[in-house]
Amino acid sequence: MASPAPLPSFAAVVVAAGRGLRAGGEVPKQFRIWRGKPLVRHSVETLRAAGADPLVVVIAADARADAAKALEGLTGLAFVTGGATRQESVLSGLEALCEAAPERVLIHDAARPDLPLAVIARLLAALAARPGAIPVLPVVDSLAVADENGAMAGKADREALRRVQTPQAFHFAEIVAAHRAWSGTLDAGDDAQVLAAQGGSVALVAGDERLKKITFAEDFVSDTPLAPFRVGQGFDVHRLAPGEELWLCGVQIPHDKGLAGHSDADVALHAITDAVLGAIGEGDIGTHFPPSDPQWRGARSGRFLEHAVGLARAAGYTIANIDLTLICEAPKIGPHRPAMRAEVARLAGLDESAVSIKATTTEKLGFTGRGEGIAAQAIVALTPA
Ligand code: MG
Repeated sequence: MASPAPLPSFAAVVVAAGRGLRAGGEVPKQFRIWRGKPLVRHSVETLRAAGADPLVVVIAADARADAAKALEGLTGLAFVTGGATRQESVLSGLEALCEAAPERVLIHDAARPDLPLAVIARLLAALAARPGAIPVLPVVDSLAVADENGAMAGKADREALRRVQTPQAFHFAEIVAAHRAWSGTLDAGDDAQVLAAQGGSVALVAGDERLKKITFAEDFVSDTPLAPFRVGQGFDVHRLAPGEELWLCGVQIPHDKGLAGHSDADVALHAITDAVLGAIGEGDIGTHFPPSDPQWRGARSGRFLEHAVGLARAAGYTIANIDLTLICEAPKIGPHRPAMRAEVARLAGLDESAVSIKATTTEKLGFTGRGEGIAAQAIVALTPA
């Protein structure tokens, strides 16, 4: 595949001067952690990676320490103190770029952290034809006009309307002149309106739903450190020995040898139990049922799996599915598969359709191939309960 054409050079202003009080909490929202990083850092990193140079971050007068910490380690940044309104802040950022006099500038709000590179590319491409370009999305809901009593007074035509996002892209000289000319008493809403007020033509390019503004406390609350689903894997091996019972997936299987171990040595249930524990970050089977503890001597391994499933439930998860592979030359697993599947489903509280039991040999290679032991590997997926 051909590599994409390099982007034209551009500078950027990231506005991070708001107090962010609507998001709650004591730290202004642009410095709070969202998806593992300070909110402002997401778009600043993306803009730098796209080539923004210079890049000015506009911050509140008392936020220099917070900003320096949030953007620690990033190069090519300058901090500028913003004003009382967003427009004043943008103008401060633009004035700081005047010495560098870039041809193009992107003006972006730090509250929109998830900035696709494709949007940057579309904006810069559109600047070839017009002095301004903004990312927009269609309105999908129908629209109503409200009267002063809160009753519906009519409908608006959504076909003609667009939702406007940032970054907004401009020819630098024209947006600076437009901002300087704008009456400071009026709220422009955004920079495209400032340019349009001076007669500048603004191109509309496709925005992206990912670019949504992080505004309310729920956006942070929902950003728990836990992923929306979790995955765990487990692996176990036990030695085959004469005179032992053979238990696989909680089912006793007739065979000339059995698995040796401290418990019933059910290698399959051990792998599944470890996968469940792994998915919730709760150590491994040895952490919960130490072989040194005599109470687990000869224990049915189904208890281990039930315990792990209970821990997952307590952590707010339910098992979505289990996929197990047994690795051995003998016994043949196929004839026992239905009973094994039913027992694993029962132990984990699942429908049988959510349990997969597969088997393979290693073509007579290695310890499983020589019949010295049986190995098992399992993957489980967990979803929020
Ligand atoms: Mg084991």
